[in-house]
Amino acid sequence: MFAFDTSYAALPERLYTRMAPTPVAAPGLIALNDALARDLGLDPEALRAAPEVFAGNAVPEGATPLAQLYGGHQFGGWSGQLGDGRALLLGEHVTPDGARVDIQLKGSGPTPYSRGGDGRAAIGPVIREYLVSEAMHALGVPTTRALTAVTTGETVQRQEGPLPGAVLTRVAASHVRVGTFQILAARDDVDGLRALFDHARARHAPAADTPLDLLRHVMAAQARTVAAWMGLGFVHGVMNTDNMTISGETIDYGPCAFIEAYHPQTVFSSIDQFGRYAWANQPDIALWNLAQLATALLPLMGEREQAVAAATEALEGFAALYDAEWRAVLGAKIGVDDRDLGHELLDVMAEDGRDFTSTFRALVHDDVPDPSPRLADWTARWRARGPDRAAMRRANPAVIPRNHQVQRAITAAERGDLEPFHALHAVLAAPWEETGANAPYRAPAPEAERVTRTFCGT
Ligand code: AMP
Ligand code: MG
Repeated sequence: MFAFDTSYAALPERLYTRMAPTPVAAPGLIALNDALARDLGLDPEALRAAPEVFAGNAVPEGATPLAQLYGGHQFGGWSGQLGDGRALLLGEHVTPDGARVDIQLKGSGPTPYSRGGDGRAAIGPVIREYLVSEAMHALGVPTTRALTAVTTGETVQRQEGPLPGAVLTRVAASHVRVGTFQILAARDDVDGLRALFDHARARHAPAADTPLDLLRHVMAAQARTVAAWMGLGFVHGVMNTDNMTISGETIDYGPCAFIEAYHPQTVFSSIDQFGRYAWANQPDIALWNLAQLATALLPLMGEREQAVAAATEALEGFAALYDAEWRAVLGAKIGVDDRDLGHELLDVMAEDGRDFTSTFRALVHDDVPDPSPRLADWTARWRARGPDRAAMRRANPAVIPRNHQVQRAITAAERGDLEPFHALHAVLAAPWEETGANAPYRAPAPEAERVTRTFCGT
């Protein structure tokens, strides 16, 4: 089924725990990502016929299931050991063109890293991750992908009461995180760090000779990813160091949400009390996380004082990296390479409380409804600059996974109705044009369905 060749299993055994997934009562397919399967050189029909594999009831040939160890800073505080508490790496699949991807089950039962959790996932968070990660891919954002979602025939106990259980199969360039390096550094495990560095370099930055090169590579990848989030009004919500990949792929779609009425300090997550992960803070938080990566790599960088100086100098380059990415994103969004002009528009949008996505999209057609005097003035000056409409069309989606639409799909799925999920998924796969199919999905939430708070999807 898969062509497994799992290099992670060759790392020192203290970096993971080998174990099989915990079987569930009744595996049933919710969704299979045909397009992704084909991209990976997999036969969609063979996958469709094997929901038991994606529920953890059968271990496919060649798999070496293991739970990965990692640690992390959560909301700025060091949490020590975390790890795959409800996930297992089935293995690394090598595609016909030689790409190596992790195939991971999420919700596959408890592991030694569960810390009292049940190791399971409810259908809501599984559907959210499936929809939003696939939408992000269609929107051109580096992200982990969703290959399958299955039901378990079991319920999980959550605050809201018993909910149907589900398992997501996640595909990633790797699941190595900032926190994977951190836990080894915290344990003074220099041999482990070196092994992980070699692994990460081989998978993500073959041109990197030194840990400093790897750091710079991750900085560039994260600058690109976070700038892409910012251009979509995406608020990740839980940018802890265990949720930041070395690959640069967006990971962990727990409390994430897209801004509707724009304000730079927008926060959705109920546990983000102080707005640490607000939209406007994301680039600074990325740098903060990268500084933790740099700190974890120090033991591999030779003499301490020189290493600190070199790492600091590298990190100081992040602002320029990010600015270049953001300038390109914002420039494409307004079709004029002028960051100040773009920021002026954002200021006006914040003042007017305008919907982020539809305002930018309306600008593509130079047809912004009900402009305030300030917005009309801005638009006149913008028009005089001869904006590049073709660039704008590719930078301003007509449709994004609006929070209330995702919520509708989840609520229906919890009742056993998967139709809204499938309809939304299909619409999100083609976000760049206004179509008849996406018309009902383009509008902001009606007042009663406005999502202002999200909850960590466990
Ligand atoms: P997250 O907030 O999803 O990034 O998760 C943070 C940590 O909590 C990770 O180590 C997860 O594996 C763990 N975790 C989250 N939900 C569960 C659960 N239901 N059972 C066990 N561990 C969990
Ligand atoms: Mg996580």
